[in-house]
Amino acid sequence: MINLLDFNQAQLAEYFVGLGEKPFRAKQLMRWMHHFGVNDFEQMTDIAKSLREKLAATTTIAPPNVQLEQISNDGTRKWLVGAGTGNGVETVFIPEDDRGTLCISSQVGCALECTFCSTGRQGFNRNLSVSEIIGQLWLANHSLRQDPDYGMLPMSERIISNVVMMGMGEPLTNYDNVVTAMQIMLDDSAYGLSRRRVTLSTSGVVPAMDRLKEDCPVALAVSLHAPNDALRDVIVPINKKYPLKELMAACQRYLVKAPRDFVTFEYVMLDGVNDSFDHAKELINLVKDVPCKFNLIPFNPFPNSGYDTSRPDDIRRFRDVLMQAGHIVTTRKTRGDDIDAACGQLAGQVQDKTKRTTRPIVLERS
Ligand code: SAH
Ligand code: SF4
Repeated sequence: MINLLDFNQAQLAEYFVGLGEKPFRAKQLMRWMHHFGVNDFEQMTDIAKSLREKLAATTTIAPPNVQLEQISNDGTRKWLVGAGTGNGVETVFIPEDDRGTLCISSQVGCALECTFCSTGRQGFNRNLSVSEIIGQLWLANHSLRQDPDYGMLPMSERIISNVVMMGMGEPLTNYDNVVTAMQIMLDDSAYGLSRRRVTLSTSGVVPAMDRLKEDCPVALAVSLHAPNDALRDVIVPINKKYPLKELMAACQRYLVKAPRDFVTFEYVMLDGVNDSFDHAKELINLVKDVPCKFNLIPFNPFPNSGYDTSRPDDIRRFRDVLMQAGHIVTTRKTRGDDIDAACGQLAGQVQDKTKRTTRPIVLERS
């Protein structure tokens, strides 16, 4: 059966035309499904009964199922979302005073093997479909609206004001599905988020970055984590394919059409690995031609990671060096500690199809 959550508005219009219906029905349906969160055709009262019956017979509006919901002491919530036999991905909601951010997964596992990432250590199973990606936003909205804390808010008020594609997986290696899902996030009939409130984080898949700026130019975050190729080759292995010179050039190209935008460079702080004074200096030189901000992420530990979180003094020193060079730097607070909801801790349930054995990590510490 066709799942209507797999379509963006243009694809839905095409589907309706195929049924002999008017294309504007797509707009109505997007509003019902995504804006009002309705998945029962019966409730869609401005759509003719005959069409509702036809849709109910041949299609469905089926978000993925929630296997587990956890709520942290600090209000962070995590859902384990089913993705077929034995598989699941994680979605995280982070409430803050001025915003509510949803962190969405794009794949079951990840094939890119960054050494400090729990998802990467688990291997790769498969790409999520559009309905499984946008379905995470659908589900989170649905679940939050049931909650007494949020349920009072009028539909016109967004509980989720920002989306970050920073959950499990590398979004740019599931390009078509991720772009379609983000188009639905930006669609005024659906979630109506501005493109600056949707952030895609990539470890640096250069050709896909060039496509993204044409197809769906959302805010870009790049997982840098090292200031030179020798170190980045080890901790973010896709660097061997797309080294830093190419990555920096791609960042510059991404910003050409949007001169007021910037790239957010994410930098995980690994004790004794990438957090020295010299690394900070080298980093400043590396990014000198890219309008950017920095987000320092204290490493979030997981069992047998082989890494330690940088000492607070080292993080402060690193931050100060960047700030003295005129950069805007934020240091990410770890949220949802008690439910393992932080960056890089998302494990879900991954049946590894890549048949990867647990790899030992060999690192030269500086
Ligand atoms: N695959 C994408 C998006 C998902 S990861 C990417 O790599 O950008 C989101 C962010 O968390 C990335 O910057 C990633 O490098 C970082 N991260 C991964 N593991 C981490 C860990 N254990 N502690 C802190 N940050 C981590
Ligand atoms: Fe994949 Fe991102 Fe983890 Fe690297 S950091 S393994 S790209 S999810």
